[in-house]
Amino acid sequence: MSISNIEKKADNFELVSGLEVHVQLNTQSKIFCSDSAAFGAGPNEHISTVSLGLPGALPKLNKEVVEKAMRIGLALNCEINQYNFFDRKNYFYADLPKGYQITQDNSPICKNGYLNVRLGDGSEKRIGINRIHLEEDAGKSMHDQDAQFSFVDLNRAGVPLIEIVTEPDIRSSEEAAALLTEIRQLVRFLDVSDGNMEEGSLRCDANISIREKGSTAFGTRCEVKNVNSIRNVRRAMDFEFGRQIEVVSNGGKIIQSTLNFDADKGTTSPMRSKEEANDYRYFPDPDLPPVVISNEWLAKVKSGMPTLPKELAQNLINELGINQSEAAVLADDRDLYQYYIAAKTEVGNQKSLVNWLLGSVRAILNEKQIEIAGYPVKPLKLAQVINLVDQKKISQQNAIQTLLPALEENTDVSAEELAKQLNLLIVEDVDAIAALIDEVLAKYQPQVEAYRKGKKGVLGLFVGEVMKLAKGKADAKKLNELILKRLEA
Ligand code: ADP
Ligand code: MG
Repeated sequence: MSISNIEKKADNFELVSGLEVHVQLNTQSKIFCSDSAAFGAGPNEHISTVSLGLPGALPKLNKEVVEKAMRIGLALNCEINQYNFFDRKNYFYADLPKGYQITQDNSPICKNGYLNVRLGDGSEKRIGINRIHLEEDAGKSMHDQDAQFSFVDLNRAGVPLIEIVTEPDIRSSEEAAALLTEIRQLVRFLDVSDGNMEEGSLRCDANISIREKGSTAFGTRCEVKNVNSIRNVRRAMDFEFGRQIEVVSNGGKIIQSTLNFDADKGTTSPMRSKEEANDYRYFPDPDLPPVVISNEWLAKVKSGMPTLPKELAQNLINELGINQSEAAVLADDRDLYQYYIAAKTEVGNQKSLVNWLLGSVRAILNEKQIEIAGYPVKPLKLAQVINLVDQKKISQQNAIQTLLPALEENTDVSAEELAKQLNLLIVEDVDAIAALIDEVLAKYQPQVEAYRKGKKGVLGLFVGEVMKLAKGKADAKKLNELILKRLEA
């Protein structure tokens, strides 16, 4: 079939998707015992009777896990289920020694939330959050280390996870990517998870179906399992959209199934179909008492919630009249925002501060390949530099090229003091400047003639030359005015 035919067909269909996002929480210990939850230890170094599922070993809930789940639930506008409990999800696998995973089936800790995500065209899309539940991770089987045996590493068994399940509100791979990007940003901002997809701290299953445009009924869905980057979620979704359209257009039926995504080929392939899927026989775990979240505890967690990046960005837009993307750069980076707040009280013009942080300072950080937290010029000093420039006591160029680098080395001296020592302060003396202007105009007589005959472009030459003689210590705007005055005289 020709490309245009496929495109025409795609126009008649709509993608429908809901995501299941697993987030590994960054607690010190596991969800039901005190084993370390840290990544990267040698095989089976972080295990105990509970991780091994030995008979008689009893799980005990980690309070920090509950608190982190509440924080992300509140950020996703969820109701917190103040009475919830754990279920056993029964299945047999070598990396699950108990024979069941402890999870939450009918009583997730959070439910009925939403997240508004921003799309490329500037519009906002609300995506419903059906629920967030708590569960433990399984261990890891390794089949490729030995010709005869499979190995198992149970360090990861019992590491705390939350699963965020969205409503089937997603209508494009762009929306899915925007949602994942925001969730990753939020879990990092709230210090709930490192959000690292490559290391598996954030894993996504994408449920995908199609329907004819205008239809309100849902089609049969396929679930692409464990996609490990936002880019691959987009690719998997776009591929599946095309594949399902092909099947349906050729008179076929979508069979509900679980798929793998092959990142090299960019294609999906069946893992198992739902008919053969396990019956998990969920039932409440008798070893764990229900989780009861008191009003006091909930109130305390609520009051400890920081202002979220989106709200910070909106405040910046309202206060400073900067645009959405400028505001997002500041608000999305917690350290940069802290730096901004620390400098803000000292700086005369907040808009200047934003311009510096998004412009010159960002360029310096990029060049040094460091983050703002590692920048030796602290907020107070940067504010002083910005004030010097705004008060026309030093040129912007000298500030960037000479004063800021010098301040990196000299941390105990004020910006103005150092500017004085380095002889960078702008010459206020109009007579001294006038003398330099005379010198330059005398040297460039023919160009002065040309200017007077209408070749106004040479003005830049005069300004540049005077500035050179003044070693950059003149205010460019004032200089312009003075030279113009002299030329028109
Ligand atoms: P199950 O318990 O069978 O996995 P859920 O109701 O928990 O089913 O849904 C799992 C995920 O699949 C949710 O994110 C949901 O939004 C999504 N989903 C449900 N129906 C569809 C559909 N027809 N098309 C795409 N996604 C769907
Ligand atoms: Mg499910």
